[in-house]
Amino acid sequence: MFVCSHTKNRLEGKVALITGGASGLGKAAAHKFIQNGAQVIIADINTELGPQVANDLGPSAHFVRCDVMNEAQVAEAVEAAVARHGKLDIMYNNAGIVGPVLPPSIAELDLDTFDRVMRINVRGTVAGIKHAARVMIPVGSGSILCTASMSGLLGGLGPHPYAISKFTIPGIVKFVASELCRTGVRINCISPGPIATPLSVGQIAQFYPGATTEQVAQIVNGIGELKGAKCEEIDVAQAAVYLASDESKYITGHNLVVDGGFTCYKDIKL
Ligand code: NAD
Repeated sequence: MFVCSHTKNRLEGKVALITGGASGLGKAAAHKFIQNGAQVIIADINTELGPQVANDLGPSAHFVRCDVMNEAQVAEAVEAAVARHGKLDIMYNNAGIVGPVLPPSIAELDLDTFDRVMRINVRGTVAGIKHAARVMIPVGSGSILCTASMSGLLGGLGPHPYAISKFTIPGIVKFVASELCRTGVRINCISPGPIATPLSVGQIAQFYPGATTEQVAQIVNGIGELKGAKCEEIDVAQAAVYLASDESKYITGHNLVVDGGFTCYKDIKL
């Protein structure tokens, strides 16, 4: 008999580590994971917001400082989760940056900026995959999630380093899934559309000098809200709950687009 568990406890007894969990989409996922019964480790470089968010989320949340650029710190965050809870079921490689606004042509690309963005968005993701796989493969189960982006689905969305970094994520996920599918460990990614978070607001604000944060947030959400489809952080968090849970046990190597149809349009103007 098929039993559908709609709202709560879809992650009962699971232990999740979320990089970039101190803000935006990672914070929303932490909240939703806990609502669904998980224990959550928030791993972030932000040592002000991270502990605050963990405190607000209550005893099921714990903060560890982790810079995903530093492999040893990623390994330590995974060890912290295992030491605290005895296992790691869900690894959500979500930390990311956009980087500064750059000249619009590849001919003028600043490769030092490119390296920095790739180091966080790609190398940081690969480090998370590596160290999660290290503890998940021996137990034969686990769900690894990565955050890609609509900017990695179509050309012309975002500065070159960011877009290129996000184009790589579904490829990494597919490649790693081809190995991990024989181990019981799944790996998938989510490509969100534009949702007002410090990352997207900070990026778009550079095009609207003088606008308040609230005004820019409205602009970002306006980009994402197409034909009445409202975009919210919770939409991405719900998708993450599904991919993290056993409800998606036969899904691996997938890129789940959560953009309200944004990348279905042929004419996108930002
Ligand atoms: P955010 O800025 O609100 O959150 C990002 C978090 O990552 C912050 O808490 C930050 O401290 C942390 N972080 C940054 N560098 C880090 C590092 N080196 N090590 C550890 N933590 C680090 O942004 P967000 O919008 O929630 O972004 C989360 C992810 O979603 C990113 O990968 C981003 O590219 C992706 N994304 C966002 C949108 C959007 O519109 N907001 C759209 C598509 C994809």
